[in-house]
Amino acid sequence: MDSQPLESRCLLCGAERLLDAAGQGLPGVTSDSKPWPRAGVFCSCQACGHVQKRRTPQWLADIERIYADYEMYTAGCGQEQAVFQAGMPAPRSARLLESVLAQAAFPQRGRLLDVGCGNGAFLRSFGARFPQWELYGYELQESRRAVILALPGARGFLHGPFEELSGTFEAVSMLHVIEHLLDPVQTLRKVLSLLAPGGLFLVQTANLAANPFDLPVADHCSHFTLDMLERAVRLAGFEVAARSDAWVRKEIGVLAQRPQHPVPIPALTCDPAGPALLQAQLSWLQAVAAHARQEAAQGALGIFGTSNAATWLAQSLGNAVGFFVDEDPQRCGNTHLDRPIVAPGDVPPDSSAYLAFPREVAEDIAKRLAGKHPGLRQILPPAAA
Ligand SMILES: [Zn+2]
Repeated sequence: MDSQPLESRCLLCGAERLLDAAGQGLPGVTSDSKPWPRAGVFCSCQACGHVQKRRTPQWLADIERIYADYEMYTAGCGQEQAVFQAGMPAPRSARLLESVLAQAAFPQRGRLLDVGCGNGAFLRSFGARFPQWELYGYELQESRRAVILALPGARGFLHGPFEELSGTFEAVSMLHVIEHLLDPVQTLRKVLSLLAPGGLFLVQTANLAANPFDLPVADHCSHFTLDMLERAVRLAGFEVAARSDAWVRKEIGVLAQRPQHPVPIPALTCDPAGPALLQAQLSWLQAVAAHARQEAAQGALGIFGTSNAATWLAQSLGNAVGFFVDEDPQRCGNTHLDRPIVAPGDVPPDSSAYLAFPREVAEDIAKRLAGKHPGLRQILPPAAA
């Protein structure tokens, strides 16, 4: 065992060359959209360039508390979050699968293991597209067993320590999991060992370049660029079949393959893109919070959305938020952080709605909303620096 404290080592490459970013002290949010007092300490590795949070004793205690009280999409009653494509909502996992299949083929039959399967959204989409595959879900805890085993095509539910799993699969998926992992490369090596030679591995996570709001998510310890995600996969011994920052907006994904014979592991060099992005995105988040505070001082302000970004911004504004606005009819009429959730058409005429999204996404949403709700006063976040 390495005697160096965890907090000084890069969680991707292990080098003790972490450099803290300027502009710390952001409030946080949990990945299940609850306010959290702190985001964590942002840093990047000077050896490989990976952007991450320091695994300090405080951070380790924080994630233990967050996971002990974890809920799946609190406000959505267990339903999968919809993604809007060309203005039409579609389940996120169905959209992802169709995008991946446009670039790569899956065999007609096999066994799929979805790591971090949650309520089975991806398994359901995959099973609908490939009814002859046998589906398996994995979660650390056993609580999802009944939900997963009830899915069409489900053959098993696995739980317990991931490193103790056994079995052979023709495909493994891991969606929105890698950003939580304390030792991502080690976990990916375990995935490799569970795959048949030639087996496929799909990994998807938030895109640091496109979604600054992922940074304050307290239980996300890695913040990947597409290059860095590909590198993590290659470090574990995979070959890369396809990659994209457009399968799902604001997200990045890599489709990799277990090689028929071991391939050389690439040498590690520093990718400077991540550290520069980290600094730019932190500055932007601070500009957004300052801008929203300014707007709130001038009149009643609601925040559009009830996701992590909206929750984080509300936390940054304290009591200045009057309400939340959401297009999802399942959420309207409920409350979020003790504030009412209203439909875009029900925002009072003397109030404004702040679009807590990356600027480019906010522009698209604003255009769409302006057509449907011409009376809605929308405030967009500042442009990226
Ligand atoms: Zn590193």
